[in-house]
Amino acid sequence: MNLAKLDLPDGVAELLGETGIESLYPPQAAAVEAGLLDGESVVASVPTASGKTLVAELAMLSALERGGTTLYVVPLRALASEKQAEFERWEELGYTVGVSTGNYDSDGEWLATRDIIVATSEKVDSLVRNDAPWVDDLACVVADEVHLVDDRHRGPTLEVTLAKLRSLNPGLQTVALSATVGNADDVAVWLNAELVESDWRPIDLKPGVHVGSAVNFADGSQREVPVPAGGRQTSALVADTVDEGGSALVFVNSRRNAEAAAARLADVVAERLTRGERAELQELADQVREVSETETSGDLASVIERGAAFHHAGLAPEHRSLVEDAFRDRLVRCIAATPTLAAGVNTPARRVIVRDWRRYDGDAGGMKPLDVLEVHQMMGRAGRPGLDPYGEAVLTAKNSERHEELFDRYIEAEPEPVRSKLAAEPALRTHLLATVASGFASTRSGLLDFLDRTLYAEQTDGRAEIERVTDQGLNYLEANDFLERSGADGDDLRVTSLGHTVSRLYLDPMSAATILDGLRWAERENAEVTPLGLYHLVSRTPDMYQLYLKSGDRETFMTLCYDREAELLGTTPSEFDDVAFEEWLSALKTAKLLEDWASELDEDRITERYGVGPGDIRGKTDTAEWLLGAAESLAGEAGLATKPVRDAKRRVADGVRAELLTLTEVGQVGRKRARRLYEAGVESRADLREADKSLVLGALRGRRGTAERILENAGRPDPSMDEDAVAEADAEQAAPDEGFNPASAVTSGETDDDQSSLGDF
Ligand code: ADP
Repeated sequence: MNLAKLDLPDGVAELLGETGIESLYPPQAAAVEAGLLDGESVVASVPTASGKTLVAELAMLSALERGGTTLYVVPLRALASEKQAEFERWEELGYTVGVSTGNYDSDGEWLATRDIIVATSEKVDSLVRNDAPWVDDLACVVADEVHLVDDRHRGPTLEVTLAKLRSLNPGLQTVALSATVGNADDVAVWLNAELVESDWRPIDLKPGVHVGSAVNFADGSQREVPVPAGGRQTSALVADTVDEGGSALVFVNSRRNAEAAAARLADVVAERLTRGERAELQELADQVREVSETETSGDLASVIERGAAFHHAGLAPEHRSLVEDAFRDRLVRCIAATPTLAAGVNTPARRVIVRDWRRYDGDAGGMKPLDVLEVHQMMGRAGRPGLDPYGEAVLTAKNSERHEELFDRYIEAEPEPVRSKLAAEPALRTHLLATVASGFASTRSGLLDFLDRTLYAEQTDGRAEIERVTDQGLNYLEANDFLERSGADGDDLRVTSLGHTVSRLYLDPMSAATILDGLRWAERENAEVTPLGLYHLVSRTPDMYQLYLKSGDRETFMTLCYDREAELLGTTPSEFDDVAFEEWLSALKTAKLLEDWASELDEDRITERYGVGPGDIRGKTDTAEWLLGAAESLAGEAGLATKPVRDAKRRVADGVRAELLTLTEVGQVGRKRARRLYEAGVESRADLREADKSLVLGALRGRRGTAERILENAGRPDPSMDEDAVAEADAEQAAPDEGFNPASAVTSGETDDDQSSLGDF
């Protein structure tokens, strides 16, 4: 289907033509035929890389032409900025793009001015709860990776969000993009949409299994890939691809395995590099090292020097994009990745190798095979249109029995059907409260009617079951004073003021109950409330993803637990209550990481001490900041002391000890700069307004522009640095003070004025 013939808004076909897109791929054409450009709802269930993004864009641009706002819902925060960057090409035609991924409770009003809004479903849900004005003005919503409604953790929010948007806005065009799943028709019925289902791909995919000395492909063909004695299958498969001029993507099941595999595969690639490639890779490795001074950064740089890389969620976003770009440019020839890379990032490779098809599952307490859908998503990354003759997706088997099994399990199998997970407990209690709190329903029967609009109802036989789980959820909320029931049979529902606070804060009601219990306990026992106690309290909630205990950790944290028991808000469970005690210690480990961060311990030391990546520290501190903010509101609501909570929150947000908090309030002053200013005797905002300029400049390592901006942010009437101050600071730098400097004791390893550490991740 030729683009010029379509009824698209002005300029769209031309702009696409400039990027080499002149006609639609068959599934895209089918979506248009189904009414995509005329406001018809569409579910597109098509393979990876078959152009789903363009389907979304065409729908949104046509909807904008008709008037209103459009919304693109992404499953992962990391994908939001990627999509934003993609959509920004439309700014040339006058469309504006906004992305909203920030704090759950932040105000979304500015978004009203954007044409295309990109947000996670959590964010959209929170905006809907808080009555964001643009929601009523929505003309088109796109749900990316809609098959993730099946995800236990994130699925229910996506499901409820779509149901709410559609009930607020009955004519809303809903475009749902999905991987190929077994029951796309269920999704289409749920969303009242036309179904476009296809297994067309822009480039052929040859799936197969390597066993012995060859890959056996599903089409019956074979490729000899012998494994040298003592060698590994994966290495042989990568070597074979690189020798042919291709690149390889290796999927493994953990971060540690990704790093280890990358190190091994780098040896394979390194032998095959030209001198010119080596030089370019060296430059790239330097860029990687500049991102941060962590061990991860160093490890990544050292494999990149040899033409390979690893990719996982512990990487900083800057690292991720350096790796992805270099892979697309064929500079890095092999990436060992955890499945995060299969989720939406556009990094095709000649050959995809799915090395690990099992993964540790905490709930199952052991290794569990991956879903067919997941393996297919990984395989779908094979083949770069226009560059490769076809893509190869290879699983590896040790023997012929396993070879058969993998063929049956993944190559010949259909992906699993998508099943709603809304009835799972945390999801249901959260969404029931929110639905009543935001006025969607004010009676039990109204609530049941709303639930009727969900995929859960679509997939549940009989209303009795829906009523049973709903009542269970309502009882929990009532028991915790978040909701009151009255009237005949308790049909009338009223959210209490506390319940409103919980819902507005976007907390799992169980988190709120845990936090309130802890704070009330402290009040009753007259206990001192310390940051560690509060970090432990929020780490005990289901909203914090705890660090788990590694071998040896139990001893360490048991000792810490008894040393600092007086600070923990609640009664330590008995050591004989295995599950509860283990959770208590895991929460303590998480709390200790937060305390270390808030005590200015160097980022690198933290990653080492806890065996985590820099991205994980950021994840934990962000969540803690949000939960402590929530705890502060709850404390206020319940008439409990708020100050200790606020202070603990600010310390974890800025990563500093208490004495630096007035400095880190000033724009551009991060933890390291604040510490240096403080050690130089500049201890507050007021000091910044009055201090000798050369002193400030010296503490900021002679960075004049930075110093001026900081002084301006501190409200100094004349922030500019005169020449005298610069000369004086230079003189001081030349003759450094030899005395003990506590700043360097806590921020060891710091070599320049790098504020990027955590603040910029
Ligand atoms: P998906 O989201 O389905 O995995 P993408 O939307 O990322 O796939 O598209 C994969 C690639 O195909 C992109 O690089 C995109 O520019 C390109 N593409 C999409 N539609 C067309 C088309 N009609 N003609 C040529 N290239 C296209």
